[in-house]
Amino acid sequence: MQTQLLADLEYKKILDAVGMRKKHLIFPIFVQEGQQEEGQIITMPGIAKTPLKKITQQIHKVINAGISSIVIFGIPENRDMKGSIALNKDGVVQKAMAQIRKEFGNMLNVITDVCVCQYNFSGQCGLVNNNKVDNDSTLELISKIALSHAEAGADVVALSSMMDGQVYSVKKSLKRHGFQKTKILSHSVKQLSSLYSPFRTAAFSKICQFNTIDKSSYQIAYTNPRQILREVQTDINEGADMVMVKPGLPSLDVICMIKEKFAFPIAAQNVSGEYAMIKAAATYGWIDEEPWKVTTIASIKRAGADRIISYFSMDLSKYLED
Ligand SMILES: [Zn+2]
Repeated sequence: MQTQLLADLEYKKILDAVGMRKKHLIFPIFVQEGQQEEGQIITMPGIAKTPLKKITQQIHKVINAGISSIVIFGIPENRDMKGSIALNKDGVVQKAMAQIRKEFGNMLNVITDVCVCQYNFSGQCGLVNNNKVDNDSTLELISKIALSHAEAGADVVALSSMMDGQVYSVKKSLKRHGFQKTKILSHSVKQLSSLYSPFRTAAFSKICQFNTIDKSSYQIAYTNPRQILREVQTDINEGADMVMVKPGLPSLDVICMIKEKFAFPIAAQNVSGEYAMIKAAATYGWIDEEPWKVTTIASIKRAGADRIISYFSMDLSKYLED
């Protein structure tokens, strides 16, 4: 008991030393259409796909843990050729968003993931023409999806497709329709990574296994730091309110580099693979889960992230001040 109390104090000390507060954490929620019960994700123990009818219940847990920001990832029941169901007013994210606003008003800061890969047959983050992802023809679709999320009540739209010009295009569309206050979180540095695979297992299980979808033409390679700076600069110029870096832990140098160069708000995502590694090793008894969670998140904060999206958010909140 005494040892546990000392350990908890140490965790609090570490997180406090890097300036971590509850408000810096964002909890991701997968909302699944067409299901009645929570769907467990084998590769992510403790994380479930939440059916629309249980979203209120799930959000009460988040609020009770002291977390005030969430990001919604939609998992639709069906896909179509172009992913156009993503902008449907009755789509999974739009329905979840409307329900959250009705039940919780403005208690929560809600971010919605804007992409097409969960909604189309290809699993690519853009429209596919002649076996290639077509950047420019995707922009209009992305803008319409973002607008539909804003109309449903999203505070922040998180543009995760990595299409060039997405911030400019979405910003223009939001402004034209009177949603100047909706913020844009741009995935400026979404690196090509195997660490997204547990999430993909959850969201893409019907169409692929692990990383069989090649996204190398638009996601960033680890080998090119100059491209990273260009992408960030472009998104800032186009009007992003915050830039996103993912995966988190393998990008500490990148977060630090962006912070030094631009002094601009940065969000980092501690992605599903980072979560799964810690959970798996802890399940086998190879590591003590708690200090790993604490130091992982502390290191991402210390590198310069202003906000951290993590599946550990609710667990860590107990060590944090408001
Ligand atoms: Zn995508």
